Amino acid sequence: GYESRSQAIYEINNREPIVVGPPCRLEDIWAADVFSLSKMKQCLPKAVFKSLKKTIQTGEQLDVSVADIVASAMKDWAIAKGASYYAHVFYPMTNATAEKHDGFISTQGDGSAISEFAGKLLVQGEPDGSSFPNGGIRSTFEARGYTAWDVTSPAYLMETDNGVTLCIPTVFVSWTGEALDKKTPLLRSIASMNKAANRVLKLLGHKDIAPVNSSCGAEQEYFLVDAHFASARPDLLLSGRTLFGKPPAKGQQFDDHYFGAIPERVQVFMQDVEKKMYRLGIPAKTRHNEVAPGQFEIAPFFEAANVASDHQQLTMTLLRQTAKKHGFVCLLHEKPFAGINGSGKHVNWSVGNATQGNLLDPGDSPHENVQFLVFCAAVIRGVHKYGPLMRAVIANASNDHRLGANEAPPAIMSVYLGSQLEELFNQIANGNMSNDYSHSGKLEFGVDTLPPLSKDAGDRNRTSPFAFTGNRFEFRAVGSSQSVSGPLIALNTMLADSLNAVGDLLEVELGKGADLNAAILTCLKEIMNKHSAVIFGGDGYSDKWHKMAVEERGLANLPTTADALPCLKEKYIEELFERTGVLSPVELESRYEVYAEQYILSIEVEAKLVIDIAKTSIYPAAMRHLTDMSQTIAVVGDMGIELDKSNIKTVAELTNSLMSKVAKLASAIEKKDFANTEEHMKYCAGTIRSLMDDVRVDVDAIEAEVADDLWPLPTYQEMLFIK
Ligand code: ADP
Ligand code: MG
Repeated sequence: GYESRSQAIYEINNREPIVVGPPCRLEDIWAADVFSLSKMKQCLPKAVFKSLKKTIQTGEQLDVSVADIVASAMKDWAIAKGASYYAHVFYPMTNATAEKHDGFISTQGDGSAISEFAGKLLVQGEPDGSSFPNGGIRSTFEARGYTAWDVTSPAYLMETDNGVTLCIPTVFVSWTGEALDKKTPLLRSIASMNKAANRVLKLLGHKDIAPVNSSCGAEQEYFLVDAHFASARPDLLLSGRTLFGKPPAKGQQFDDHYFGAIPERVQVFMQDVEKKMYRLGIPAKTRHNEVAPGQFEIAPFFEAANVASDHQQLTMTLLRQTAKKHGFVCLLHEKPFAGINGSGKHVNWSVGNATQGNLLDPGDSPHENVQFLVFCAAVIRGVHKYGPLMRAVIANASNDHRLGANEAPPAIMSVYLGSQLEELFNQIANGNMSNDYSHSGKLEFGVDTLPPLSKDAGDRNRTSPFAFTGNRFEFRAVGSSQSVSGPLIALNTMLADSLNAVGDLLEVELGKGADLNAAILTCLKEIMNKHSAVIFGGDGYSDKWHKMAVEERGLANLPTTADALPCLKEKYIEELFERTGVLSPVELESRYEVYAEQYILSIEVEAKLVIDIAKTSIYPAAMRHLTDMSQTIAVVGDMGIELDKSNIKTVAELTNSLMSKVAKLASAIEKKDFANTEEHMKYCAGTIRSLMDDVRVDVDAIEAEVADDLWPLPTYQEMLFIK
């Protein structure tokens, strides 16, 4: 109640600042807690190191004899740094990170114990998979789950209150090999994309081609709320967002938070997070305030997709853990506060290799530009063909609040290229490269005469879900709480498919005797003719676009998860994943089941919380308010003075309305007879959500009328502005 609110404010104002120690030199702490390649080189026999390095580069399974030696070196390193436990870390189909801890202990026949860590324990673990969602796979096969070290992601040390743990990034699969996690398909999608990219690069005339990988740099937005307030908000604690709350008098309308000075307490927190990130070899780079009050962002320098994804999971863990230490709660929810900008995670993505460099970077020569256009066109085709998949991989109950809400990209997938590139692709499509773009007047096979493409990221369009930003694409519709693996899997897989289509087209043209430039131009033209409808440079928030996208361009607008997820059951999506070897039909289906179930569950939890808080906190507060007021009115009335009763009338009416809406919601969540999961999701997205919103309208109106010292929940004003 109010006491806890005022107590919280007292505590915050009188808190002792956290001491994080003097700043460290980056060189002294960088990757100090990572069993990195350079550390392995130091402590492994030459031949073993060579073999391991090869495995890392090719992604193959580790030789068992090598594994024993690596494990022993890893254990010695970890124990010297205070570790007594090791954990296989894996990424189940939730957005969470899971761990199974084991001690480095082996009891001997004579009753003594030694610290031991055999190669087989490094390479394979067997967590109790039954507590992780599997979408029916494990019951079908009656299988256990296995974890296996992903050698492409280095082991590291995590320090918690319970001591130091050696963490080993792993894949999580059933014993029949089905993926039960997000890492396995990510690795497969990289392999598939690599193969297709190699094929195209070969066709483009390259001989020396290093493995192609995708890169990812994820910008993470988050809110910080003082823990005293958060702990008095059961909705924040249990669902990650406020289910009630009247907008504060001062919101973000002044825009003074963005890039404003970072409050000192927050800055200390950020430094602490960054220090931990550096120790773990995560290249934290930028930090700043975000648009909303209380909202911040952290972005690392980009890395290889697989490592970036593990590091992103770690970053979320570090943000949450460190916040606790600093007396904050870190909210990664996509929409913790209604009426205030939500949080996204911009996934910057590109593909490249050591020999050709960044393949989505326009080069200095026409030749490099051609290569760029081919890869860029392949991406465009992917987004056009598989837009609904891109929507599906960012679909969850929380991101639905954000997408299309005039603060975040719409739920329609389109590509923003910038005017220069859009114009160029248009001309390729129309077969009339303008004179400006030709140096020699040879228009028909214009690839030799491409203009120099400016490397400037150029005009930024913040309303696009997927924007080209100079040398990469930025997937801006991803939600702040989501694993980046899902989006990366979709992007890599779509690109693999498109590059194979490009390869087919080029082979046909070359087979007909066309020269390479002509073949490329024909291929680009064909892609543009079929897929340019997905290119859009205008205002993605506008109603005009919502209408045009669907009616004229034939693009899908999938506003809710209930609309988007069923796309995973479409034949063409199943074929995409099967053809590229990224997910089998069984694996894909299991994913659909898991995500749909999570969606339904999270809305049900919220609905129950709405009912609970309305009944046990809001209603009593309103009644107390009415009691107080009406007693005074009666006493004063006895003196012959008539007091204004309008507030009593308003609160009384709102309270009645509230309770009848709560009753409606309570009976709505009893419904259990659904024909299928799709129907159940639709019911949650439509009926349940709108009944919850109805309740909220009354609660927020009551908050505006009831005496502040009776109000039970910390207010938006308190949570957003008191630090
Ligand atoms: P902005 O806020 O303007 O989008 P930031 O600098 O905050 O820019 O974030 C850009 C992100 O894009 C960083 O994480 C950066 O490392 C990443 N990035 C840059 N180049 C690439 C690339 N080739 N592939 C993937 N990510 C990249
Ligand atoms: Mg960005």
